[in-house]
Order: sequence, then structure tokens, then C-alpha cells
Amino acid sequence: MTLWPHWIDNRREVPRDFTETTPIYNPSTEEVLAEVTLDDGTALEAAIRAAASAFPEWSATPVLERARLFFRYRELLERHRQELAANVARENGKTLQDAYQEVGRGIEVVELAAGAPNLLKGEILTEVAHGVDTTMVRAPLGVVGGITPYNFPAMIPLWMVPLAVVSGNTFVLKPSERTPMTAMMLAELLAEAGAPAGVLNIVNGGKPVVDGLLEDPRVRAISFVGSQPVAKYVYETAARHGKRVQALGGAKNYHIVLPDANLEATVDALMGSAYGAAGQRCLAASVVVAVGPVADVLIDRLHAQGDQLVLGPGTDPRSQMGPVIRDAHRQRVLSFIEAGAAAGARLIRDGRAGVPERGYFVGPTLFDQVSPDMVIAQEEIFGPVLSIIRAKSLEEAVHLANRSRFGNTASLYTQSGGAARYFRDHIQAGMLGINIGVAAPVAWFPFSGWKESFYGDLHATGRDGLEFYTEKRVITERW
Ligand code: NAD
Repeated sequence: MTLWPHWIDNRREVPRDFTETTPIYNPSTEEVLAEVTLDDGTALEAAIRAAASAFPEWSATPVLERARLFFRYRELLERHRQELAANVARENGKTLQDAYQEVGRGIEVVELAAGAPNLLKGEILTEVAHGVDTTMVRAPLGVVGGITPYNFPAMIPLWMVPLAVVSGNTFVLKPSERTPMTAMMLAELLAEAGAPAGVLNIVNGGKPVVDGLLEDPRVRAISFVGSQPVAKYVYETAARHGKRVQALGGAKNYHIVLPDANLEATVDALMGSAYGAAGQRCLAASVVVAVGPVADVLIDRLHAQGDQLVLGPGTDPRSQMGPVIRDAHRQRVLSFIEAGAAAGARLIRDGRAGVPERGYFVGPTLFDQVSPDMVIAQEEIFGPVLSIIRAKSLEEAVHLANRSRFGNTASLYTQSGGAARYFRDHIQAGMLGINIGVAAPVAWFPFSGWKESFYGDLHATGRDGLEFYTEKRVITERW
């Protein structure tokens, strides 16, 4: 069995002494792709040391040269886009088309990074006093750590690495131990593009590696994306160790459908949002609040389209929906379906039946008559389970959505500008969609939720991303 390596100093490092490994599965087939070692701190020490020793030279490399690295990286990622997507589909289970789009979103952050010379410019104000000028410049932080989840093995590392590295930092990435393979390809391509050794390092592992990153004084900042409890833990622990931290957490996303919505487009958007990637997106629709008479027709159409969805391996181009990540996760999703039914919600479409035999599949599941206090309306399920709550007005729908402790995304479907404006101003979520099923990240804008979907100040990507990875220095001078 292949032992999946770390990546340190631009080399694959196969661990020699290790105590623990865990299988990397293809969740579509249950095949074991490799064994990944869970580092006990040895590889992490080597990675931090490599990053720390690469920092002086890399941070002193002219910003134009750093930016040009990302022009070359962009070309390599484009050239290998199909292969990267195939890797994502294999280790994560999402469809090839979805994986291809994911890689594209990551490439957009590389395009943002390539504009760093413009974005990293400082400010100057002359004559703040007689003969005195004040200048603000941005300086990189040093070694930065990134911890990423399983559901976007390409895109989420690419939210972090390009912006941190182009700003002059060096990076230690700990990808999800469930999907560590794509990250290796990203690192190898960055080296091929010309990144010096030590600029990007990858250490595989679980909590001990995360704790090592959070506690090590050489690591100046932490970017985290994953579930809410871990996001909170990472935020608190990193802050206690004096680090800058951005921690993006879980979600429970409400989508509100008004009676005037374009029904066909709305159903298409909801199908993609609720069932795309088998519901394993932080922006997935999880609850639909159907306002007024729209509920019945909406449910009929969602039910009919759910029956049409082709389940199959992510790597099969005919598949429209892949599996969830692991058997344990499937069991968790199934337990939510049981809980919903037991609480009295009406199970319109039951995803427990009619799924492929091999692989961790759950079919599209639809509940009606869900009430806001049911567990399926409150907890993140992270599977293809959509709950319908009925409401009388937009105001009531917004109120229901705002009761959630999460605030990652919310969407409204309507043809009314006034309703859209009310929604925009009253909903408590960070990423809003209006007639959009997945208000997906746009690299040039900040990305993050609100409330318990995010711990920190500066969001991922956009100017926020560059602000996060740099600190400002102000020089006041008289000559
Ligand atoms: P996870 O929290 O289980 O894992 C995320 C990372 O944290 C992994 O690298 C993992 O190894 C590490 N980790 C896990 N448990 C830990 C612990 N106890 N202590 C320290 N580190 C730990 O998340 P996941 O299951 O990989 O990803 C799915 C979750 O991520 C969902 O909740 C989803 O909503 C969220 N997510 C959020 C966003 C966002 O932008 N807000 C984006 C993608 C995913």
C-alpha cells in the first residue's frame, strides 16, 4: 500500500518512523487509494523549519518576481485542470464537472495574487507637519499555517496559499487527512512554476498537527476552514498563542422562495445547491422557507427532479451526484433523516433507498412540514437533505432564518426588487444570493459567513486576504 508523503522543501517526504496511518478512500467505490500517515510532530517541525529558513530570502524577493511566479502557476494549473479535477473527484467523490469548476475557482485566486504589485502598494501623505512625511508599507508576517477541510481539496488551499505566498510569507499547509492528494499536486505545480524550496510545505495529520501549528511561536497566523466546533477551537487556541487567525466554520443555509419567483430557474438553483456535491458544501441549501402558496408546486417539482438525478461515482462523467465522504458520515446523514421523520416532518423523498450498492451514497432527500425547532432545521447535516418550512410572509421567513446560530449564506428567489432589498438589509448572513443557488466565492471579494460560521475579522480572499497575510508599518520621517 502506498504511504502518502508530506511535502517539505519541495520534496516528497515519506515518513520512516510513524505510529499511525489512516486510509484515503475513493468514497465512490470504497477502494483504498493510499495510507496517509498522521504526523506526530516530526514532519511538522521539519516543515516549520523549512518555511522559517525560506522566509528571509522569499520575503526579500521583489514583489514583481513573486507575482510572476503566480502567472506561471496559473498557466500550469490551467494546463493540468482536468487532471486536478480528476484527483478531486477521485478522493472526494464529487462529480468531474463540479470538481472542474472548483479548480477554476481556485485559479481565480491565483489571478488575484498575480495582481499583487498593485494590491500591496502602501500609502503616503507628505507634509503631515512642516518637512515631515508619513508612509505606510505592508510587510509579510513570516510563516503562516493553513488547515483545510475535505470538501474542496483544491479550492480552499488555493484561497490561502497564493495570497500568503505572493505577499512574501512562507506556508505550512495541513490538508484534510481524508483528501490530502490534490494538495500534493498543487504543491508540485507551484514548485514547477519556480517556488523556492520551503515556500510551501505540507504536513499530513489530524489534531496533533493542528495543535502544533496553533502553538508554535514561529507560526504567525492561521487560516482555518472546517466545521464550527473546530473553527471555534482553532480561533480561541491560536488567539491565546498570540496569532492572527481567520476561522471559517460550518453552516445551516436558508433559502427563501417567494410566490413571484421564476419557478423553473428556482427549482434548478435549489437542486444544484441542495444536492450538488451531495450537500457537502458550506453554501449548500439546507432549508427552504416557502412563502405562501408556492410550497406545494415547489415540492412537486423538487421531488420529480430528485427522482431524475443520476447517482454514481464522481469520476464517471455520467454521474450527476456522487457519494458523501465516508461511511461514518453517511450514517450521520441517515440519522438526521431518521430524526426528521421521528420528529413528525413529512418525508417526501427518502434518500436511504435506491442508491448504488458500493460507495457511501445517500440519495436526494426532501422533507415537508418541517418546523423551525426540529433538529433537521437547526443542525448542519452536510448531506443531500433538504427541509421545507412554510411561512406566511417574507418578514416571517427572514425572521426564521435569522434564528439560526449560523450565518454563512442565504438566498432569496423573487422578481421583486423591493423584496430583494428587504432581504439584503435584514438577513444575518455573510454571503447572499438573490436568484442564485450557490453564492460562490468570487476571488476579488472577501468570502466568509457571519455568526458561528466565522471566527475572526478579515475574511478569506479579496483585499481582506492580502490584509490578513500582511501587517502595516508606518514610517514618519524628516530630512
Ligand atoms: P473538520 O472540522 O472535521 O476538519 C477540518 C480540518 O480540521 C481538517 O484538516 C481536520 O484534520 C482538522 N480537525 C478535525 N478535527 C479537529 C480537532 N478536533 N482539532 C483540531 N483539528 C481538527 O471539517 P470537514 O469535515 O473536513 O469539513 C466540513 C466542514 O467544513 C463543514 O462543517 C463545512 O460547513 C465546513 N466548511 C466551511 C466552509 C466555509 O467557507 N465556511 C467551507 C468549506 C467547508
